[in-house]
Amino acid sequence: MTTGSLPGTAPPVQRPRSQLRELELRGVSRAYGAHLALKPFDLTVRGGEFVALLGPSGCGKTTALNCLAGLLPLTGGEIRLDGRRVDTLPPEKRGFGMVFQNYALFPHLTVRANVAFGLKMRRLGKAEIRDRVEAVLRLVRLTEHAAKHPGQLSGGQQQRVAIARAIVVQPPLVLMDEPLSNLDAALRLEMRSEIRRIHQEFGLTTIYVTHDQEEALSLADRLVVLRDGEVSQVGTPAELYEHPVSPYVAAFMGYRNMLSLTAMSGDTAAGRGLSVTGTPGGGPVAAGQPVTVAIRPEDLHVAGDGEPGGGAGTAGTAAPAAVVGEAVAEVVEYHGRTLHVEAVTAEGDRLHLRTSRPVHPGDALRVAAAPERALIFPGDGSAP
Ligand code: ATP
Repeated sequence: MTTGSLPGTAPPVQRPRSQLRELELRGVSRAYGAHLALKPFDLTVRGGEFVALLGPSGCGKTTALNCLAGLLPLTGGEIRLDGRRVDTLPPEKRGFGMVFQNYALFPHLTVRANVAFGLKMRRLGKAEIRDRVEAVLRLVRLTEHAAKHPGQLSGGQQQRVAIARAIVVQPPLVLMDEPLSNLDAALRLEMRSEIRRIHQEFGLTTIYVTHDQEEALSLADRLVVLRDGEVSQVGTPAELYEHPVSPYVAAFMGYRNMLSLTAMSGDTAAGRGLSVTGTPGGGPVAAGQPVTVAIRPEDLHVAGDGEPGGGAGTAGTAAPAAVVGEAVAEVVEYHGRTLHVEAVTAEGDRLHLRTSRPVHPGDALRVAAAPERALIFPGDGSAP
């Protein structure tokens, strides 16, 4: 573990360049008895990247993180840090920073002493410890609370102490496991941007576990979506948002309308009183095949919206929206300029759409979507 500065010399206040070039996971897997909780997977993380592992409870996120941390041995595969194999090393020899949902601070130590702890364990000089602790406390904006004990701090402040403690040792990699899940909604939002800021200002390489799609999209440079211990898709937020490879990933990316229909051709599907012109989302589709059509609520609207005199519409889409079918508005929520509408078709399918027209519960609506915003996936697997 390099500290980045010589004993006795003043450490840099900020370290904007990541000291890690590349973290490589090759065929990494983990079984609990006969249960393969993490199927073999590959992932390369570049220095300075923020990568989120995203998936529902039980998909293997924590298992993956604990394997990286060294808290769980791998069943197969290897992990390399800048070419050097680390999966054979115990956690303390890997020198990664870790932040968990329960902050695990020492209650009897002050904030300053909590943050200094790791540096003391590394037997650094007093002056260097003082300088580095003060620099990190400034970074996480806790200087004025340095003499307090954790019990005197708010949840968000405690979480910042946990982050400070993890990064003060200048780890090559920071691992975070749902670090915001114990905070209330407002604080979660605030801490989200704090974490991103700290990641950037300190030049960290971060792997972050969450089940919250919005959190992952807003924080990460790349997302790894997991399902039943298997990687479903890896990509930037924009790639996953625009081009999910399966209904499962689409559901995670906010495609709330999942329609089980039958393909009429490669880019049309129908059934249950609905008819969709769309775009193949996950490989070729043949006529007669069962398909799942995925459309985000913000891409489904009342026919005529977006046209002259119309309302919300799919701004920026080239092709005109094609009518999908008819439904009766059931729930109408006011959200400023747009209304969020839940409507039900004659066959009982529930549609989620947006409009800026005055819609009321009980109104019959003709619903439309732009073809490039309706993704047609092979298979009838409505998202789990
Ligand atoms: P959560 O968000 O609920 O923490 P997760 O995505 O982090 O879930 P893991 O905790 O990694 O999921 O668990 C993955 C799978 O491995 C689950 O099916 C879980 O039941 C199983 N599992 C986890 N820990 C153990 C263990 N110690 N022994 C046996 N099975 C385990």
